[in-house]
Amino acid sequence: MKNYISLHFDTRDILGGADAILGITGRKKDVAEVFASGNMHLTLEEHDERLAKVRALLEEAGEKPLIMSWEEYSEDELQAAPLLSVSLSAWTKARTTTGSVFGVTYDVSDACRTCLTGVRQTSPLVVDGNAMLDVNKHRVAHTTDKNLLVLDTDVEKLLAANVTGANFWPATAKYKSGVIGEIRWQQAVIENVLPPMAASTGLDETLKCPTCGRGRQRAVGSGRDLHITYRREDLKNLCDFNLSWEWFGDFGKYDPDAPDKGASSFRPLPWIFVTPKVMNLIRGKTKKEQNYQGCGFFPIWIEDDTHDKPYLMT
Ligand SMILES: [Zn+2]
Repeated sequence: MKNYISLHFDTRDILGGADAILGITGRKKDVAEVFASGNMHLTLEEHDERLAKVRALLEEAGEKPLIMSWEEYSEDELQAAPLLSVSLSAWTKARTTTGSVFGVTYDVSDACRTCLTGVRQTSPLVVDGNAMLDVNKHRVAHTTDKNLLVLDTDVEKLLAANVTGANFWPATAKYKSGVIGEIRWQQAVIENVLPPMAASTGLDETLKCPTCGRGRQRAVGSGRDLHITYRREDLKNLCDFNLSWEWFGDFGKYDPDAPDKGASSFRPLPWIFVTPKVMNLIRGKTKKEQNYQGCGFFPIWIEDDTHDKPYLMT
């Protein structure tokens, strides 16, 4: 895993301007990009010595850059992970809406009355057809309530590979005109629920539902990217598709007069975890395919028997 830092700043107050920075970083566009405004966007690995040199120059000029940081995992780390979390939130164009307004039904009888964790979908998915124009470009799609939609050709590959933990339900789209049409995506209906995450995931305990302890308003890490961590002994009975025990997001409101309505609007949702076998079958192979992959994959971290420092499998 490598940590990357990006800096965004104005080069006009720096001695030597943009050229001084480019003299340090080189002129590769994936490292440094200069805009007509004189602003520069710079991306380097945390320990790259060029980063320290640029920061020293900026400090000298009194320039305070906008800073972003993130982690990138190596291919070996992805392939060695027992599970990968399926990250959907950045892929807004691969997202469509669903819910009882489109005719989908839900069972709330086992759901928490405080936060609505535990709602179950009981009919095939119907999505908003008018959002499908953007979605159509993507390989993996999802709904606002984190239903995972897999392209029919990939579903065939997954079934041929005998993946476990999910059934695939055909989904349809409803258009503004009221017409309901077939779509190429099928919903991965995931049954297997993982044990609770390890404490070292660092979830904020104050944000959990006081009634069920399972719904959580947010997932908050300790100032770094969230490292979803599981105890090694809890990873014995994995399926290829799994859901987190925890559900994340705004708490729903249980309305005894219209329980189904609350089930399809704001409520917490479980996260999805798959094995590398699934990732390898559904992810984009070429650069162009990756741009429209529709989801990201992040390895989980492991806590061993001593519950000491979490680590990545390699
Ligand atoms: Zn609850």
